[in-house]
Amino acid sequence: MKRRDFLRKASIGAAAALAATAGILGCGKKEEEKKEAAAPAVITEKKYEWKMVTTWPPKLPVLQDGCERLAKRMEEVSDGRLKIQVFAAGELVPPLESFQAVSDGTVEVGSGASYYWAGKEPATQWFSAVPFGMNAQGMAAWFHGGDGLKLWEECYAPFNLVPRPGGSTGVQMGGWFNKKINTIDDYKGLKMRIPGLGGKVVAKAGGTVVLTAGGEIFTNLERGVIDATEWVGPLHDLRMGFYQAAKYYYYPGWHEPGTYLEYFFNKKAYESLPKDLQHMLDAICMENELWVLSQFEARNGAALQELITKHNVELIQFPEEVLNTLRKMSLEVVEEEAKKTPLATKVNDSFKAFQKVAGAWGTVSEKAYYDIISPQEPA
Ligand code: CA
Repeated sequence: MKRRDFLRKASIGAAAALAATAGILGCGKKEEEKKEAAAPAVITEKKYEWKMVTTWPPKLPVLQDGCERLAKRMEEVSDGRLKIQVFAAGELVPPLESFQAVSDGTVEVGSGASYYWAGKEPATQWFSAVPFGMNAQGMAAWFHGGDGLKLWEECYAPFNLVPRPGGSTGVQMGGWFNKKINTIDDYKGLKMRIPGLGGKVVAKAGGTVVLTAGGEIFTNLERGVIDATEWVGPLHDLRMGFYQAAKYYYYPGWHEPGTYLEYFFNKKAYESLPKDLQHMLDAICMENELWVLSQFEARNGAALQELITKHNVELIQFPEEVLNTLRKMSLEVVEEEAKKTPLATKVNDSFKAFQKVAGAWGTVSEKAYYDIISPQEPA
């Protein structure tokens, strides 16, 4: 009897542990299991109400949606102990003030892409996108299997921030052009909206980089103020209507091969949470990281088809020679940028070493496999 009793208790314990894990993973669980699983972890009844400011417009698919999802999941999994109220760009602070607002402790959470903060510390750029750098898979591997996240934490610590990877857009598109790019010389005099390191490369190639806020890109392209623009990928580009203002849709997005998004927390606020809530928050960030990439991968293909078949967009791959020259220029730009601070040098060294090893493996795994299974043209 005693043995049976022990086994019964042990299995209840295992079920409760499983239910707790299922909660983190978003699987369904019954109310009573939920209470039983949560009970031992509740140290205090203290409830936290936080605010999150993002750099995204309201209702922007995947990006702003993802932040809303993060808040919803955290409330569910913590049984309401941590509630996060999400504000889109401009609703509480201007879009590019989110980093400072969270750093100052005005609000507890922010979301953006770390290359926005290059002016504060050039090293931030490596955690979002490096031209001809790593794709989404490589970036995730660097963060979670290499030194990436550790370096990111080191980079944000002086700003009183704790960063967490927020998922990737995957490889972006090269952009929308009203002039064909046949040789590298076609960049000379080209007026293009392209931010960040990619913009510095286009400038090196002789282009004129124009920085335009999201809402003004379409009009500028339509009126010829700019000859070209990049944005994200088919899902978001379709929504912006660029196909009505530009003739050619170029790929691949060499300048943003797997742009990572981010969540960042005020360090003091993060550390004030009980350990179990900190772990839940980390787990939900990671869950969202996967959700964001999956949304892009699941929806970009259909959007691309719509652009081609319904809107007759001409899809063109950058010529190989152009890409090779842009790559050489990118390496120069990245090295110039890396020299700006000791931390940027350190982060660049880690990034390069990781890309070299991961890339060598990718060549005999992912690349070799894609070469076999993708003979069909995108159109
Ligand atoms: Ca972009």
